[in-house]
Amino acid sequence: MSSLHADIERVLFSEDVILAGIDQVARAIVERFDGRDFTVVSILKGSCIFSADLIRRIPVPLELAFVSASSYRDKTTSGELEISFFPTGEIEGRSLLLVDDILDTGQTMSRLKAEFLARGASEVATCVFLDKPSRRAVELDADFKVLEVDDLFVVGYGLDFNGRYRNLPYVGVLRPELYGAAGGETDPGADEARSSEAR
Ligand code: 5GP
Ligand code: MG
Repeated sequence: MSSLHADIERVLFSEDVILAGIDQVARAIVERFDGRDFTVVSILKGSCIFSADLIRRIPVPLELAFVSASSYRDKTTSGELEISFFPTGEIEGRSLLLVDDILDTGQTMSRLKAEFLARGASEVATCVFLDKPSRRAVELDADFKVLEVDDLFVVGYGLDFNGRYRNLPYVGVLRPELYGAAGGETDPGADEARSSEAR
């Protein structure tokens, strides 16, 4: 039987470090909404693990909704996003906390934030598990972030490579030979993005 762990070259953030970071962010979120009712909108698939751990550390009433965003991009285009809402009725007049796995170029978050405001959300705050500030292409800072990463392609804790590795309980870097023929120079996320799989 093959083990996922064997494919990881190094662990960047252990489960303990991740959960301690989430505890802090959860406290800040409670303060920010200050007793107002809000809806956590988890961006599928990548943020499912993070959202599950985060909401269990927020001891106030909240609702949970999902949206899926798939980007189709390569090195030459800025990327198009296909968004599926399930369902739409939970948005109008609500305060939202939009939750994603990683803020990379920022396209996904900024598009979704605009989309939810256009659909009548009264406010949209943003929360990401990881922030990769060096890659930002649009002006957007998350209101809440757990950890910062350098310009590295990471997997685990919801983040995938070709649909795999989401179930690792920590965040790590894959052994370079697993990225395939490109010699590690391309952004592995770009290849995955060309498939229609929700990121
Ligand atoms: P953005 O629209 O901010 O460029 O892209 C965000 C999406 O790209 C994330 O939700 C994630 O699915 C994907 N992504 C960006 N960087 C990484 C990474 O290092 N690892 C993985 N697995 N996905 C990434
Ligand atoms: Mg994602």
